[in-house]
Amino acid sequence: MSKKAENVVTMEKIVSLCKRRGFVYPSSEIYGGFAAIYDMGPYGVELSTNIKNEWWKYMVQIRPDIVGLDSAIFMHPRTWEASGHVSGFSDPLTECKKCHTRLRVDHLLEDIGVAADEKMSEKEIDKIFSENVKNIKCPNCGSKDFSGAKKFNLLVKSNLGNFTENWDKEPAYLRGETCQGIYVDYKNVLDSTRVKIPFGIAQIGKAFRNEITARQFIFRTREFEQMEMQYFVTEATEMTEYEKLKKYRWDFYTKVLGFDEKDLKWHKHENLVFYAKEAYDIEFNYPFGFKELEGIHARGDYDLTQHTKFSGQDLTYTDQTTGDKFMPHIIESSVGVGRTILAALCSAYCEEGEGESSRTVLKFPYKLAPIKVAVFPLLKNKPELVAKAREIFDSLTPSMMCEFDDNGNIGKRYRRQDEIGTPFCVTVDFDTLDDDTVTVRHRDTMKQERVKIVELDGFFHKHNL
Ligand SMILES: [Zn+2]
Repeated sequence: MSKKAENVVTMEKIVSLCKRRGFVYPSSEIYGGFAAIYDMGPYGVELSTNIKNEWWKYMVQIRPDIVGLDSAIFMHPRTWEASGHVSGFSDPLTECKKCHTRLRVDHLLEDIGVAADEKMSEKEIDKIFSENVKNIKCPNCGSKDFSGAKKFNLLVKSNLGNFTENWDKEPAYLRGETCQGIYVDYKNVLDSTRVKIPFGIAQIGKAFRNEITARQFIFRTREFEQMEMQYFVTEATEMTEYEKLKKYRWDFYTKVLGFDEKDLKWHKHENLVFYAKEAYDIEFNYPFGFKELEGIHARGDYDLTQHTKFSGQDLTYTDQTTGDKFMPHIIESSVGVGRTILAALCSAYCEEGEGESSRTVLKFPYKLAPIKVAVFPLLKNKPELVAKAREIFDSLTPSMMCEFDDNGNIGKRYRRQDEIGTPFCVTVDFDTLDDDTVTVRHRDTMKQERVKIVELDGFFHKHNL
């Protein structure tokens, strides 16, 4: 059944709900905001934590071959030379010669269906741009006259530990991606744990990029959080492990986060950076179209070879049974937390009913819902109802996020919980005082049933809360 036109999920609706209901706020808003930076509100932080926990469970907890890591945001500056970020980590920019708008070349190419990798050299990307520029128009003024593609470095500098006047010359960077922390700790993990190839190292953490054109809400931000897993393999098994990882990551979205398969698709990178064997993105159908949610890349032995070269440390792996020494190849899975949050919000967003009985509801899978159960006394001014509701609330909070609400009429309280995606509401009324039962209302069906207080635990357990 197709959704009615007014029920289409738009960015305006998502942004407005996020602000109104405390999921996402613009950063430093009382000072007019700070471009491309956002804060997670009380419900946003719960949603974000739930997503990260599901990822960690799926990528680390149930995987005996993958271990976790939490490396620091600041790293030795040479890390970023070895990785190629100092010279090559940049957005390719062009300027419209007529209106002087600065534009991302890879985005312009993407819009006409030509894929370019942000890690390509200026020469590589300028070549693709000049081959396709005849099909590109300035989105601002319509002109087709552009300057050549130039790269603008994305690393964010700091003066950490540098008290000299020319700190700018040798800056400590805020990390531009979390995976470099994994590469430089690879040897420590190898020496201090029992991992054997093939094995993975996973981490969740903040990264920073000086994005020029920040757009689309929390989709592309200057401070963001990544969930990355780097998997170390032999050259011979790289592509079979890569196919396994692709399937495993697809299943995360459909089976764990409950996304509809029709909102997901594969996007193959046609123009690869020179060392890459293969690169695919999983794209999600956002209100602004299918865009990258996750990157899954076969990176060859480039990363550890580079760090061997720049650090002078031997990062080769010795196979304990055969005695073979080799440089591990790496396949990676890399996804942004913000992009996943936005996809989860778009997936869950529904508008139902008409007029008085209309409602907006976020139909999150229960495990993602910020609040699992809301507890209401039917009336605020009846102490015996309030006391009983408090008692139930206090008994549930040690095991799940709950909310207590005695404001306004019950209908309004239900609507509020629907908008933040709370799966169940429990109401204490006058019957409760007689028979120790409560009304439990289901978010998705709005059906209500009477449940004995002593059986609430079992009821929620049965529903996997
Ligand atoms: Zn223009």
